[in-house]
Amino acid sequence: MKRKIFCKMRRDKTLSWIVAGALLVAAVACGKVMITGRSQMLLFSQGELTSLSNQAYTEIMSKSVPSNNSTHIKMVNKVGQDLTQAVDRYVKEKGWDKSLEGITWKFDVIKSDQVNAFCLPNGNIVFYEGIMKITNTPDLVAVVMGHEIAHALAKHGNERMSQEALVGVAGQALSAYLGSESEKTQMLFGLAFGVGTQLGVLLPYSRKHEYEADRLGLIIMAMAGYDINVAPGFWEKMSAGGNSKMEFFSTHPSDANRIAQIKRVLPEAATYIPKK
Ligand SMILES: [Zn+2]
Repeated sequence: MKRKIFCKMRRDKTLSWIVAGALLVAAVACGKVMITGRSQMLLFSQGELTSLSNQAYTEIMSKSVPSNNSTHIKMVNKVGQDLTQAVDRYVKEKGWDKSLEGITWKFDVIKSDQVNAFCLPNGNIVFYEGIMKITNTPDLVAVVMGHEIAHALAKHGNERMSQEALVGVAGQALSAYLGSESEKTQMLFGLAFGVGTQLGVLLPYSRKHEYEADRLGLIIMAMAGYDINVAPGFWEKMSAGGNSKMEFFSTHPSDANRIAQIKRVLPEAATYIPKK
């Protein structure tokens, strides 16, 4: 009995150290998402995220065939450049340059029927030919592209890794952070981005991150002068016709709540349309 209590005390003590450490870390690693102003905890440096993304990108591309469809390549690059130039300009005007650190926008199209697209935290945006059958106009490419850019700008990957570090493998991962054990950081990145399991199929973000990426994505679309009003119809069509084989839509379930939220933020996004 005595022993049991002692063990419990020890465990509690260890736990309280972890909690205390976590609070300390949270206190020093708090960030704010641009535009939405939401507070977030970021335990990893952008440098770490960029370097892990670079490795993941090289791995994904080495196992993929680049598209030779010039229409797709041109459309993805044009929309990508329009959106990222608009957002970069806005961020610089606001003096938020730090949020672009470690991000170099680059656009690729992969020859594959996978219905998927993603953006790594280093700014590498990849579309698969499969999704181009659905996003077959510049405005529709901009819906998906804006959403993906938003995940990178809002540092959702870093935040998810930070949450996993504290909640999932609390003690170990916290020591990884405090001791900069790159192997464990790498493991968390792999967990967060599905790297090493199914290449290019990123694990779903939380609902909170999805809603935020939808809202910021529409704002980014508006800044670049794309038609934000196509977004609700696009997600409605996907919610009716999407299936689990369409990777992008299985990780981005577009239920009624999500579509309602998109409609709700349209007027806010419209305020970012450049005045002629
Ligand atoms: Zn998303």
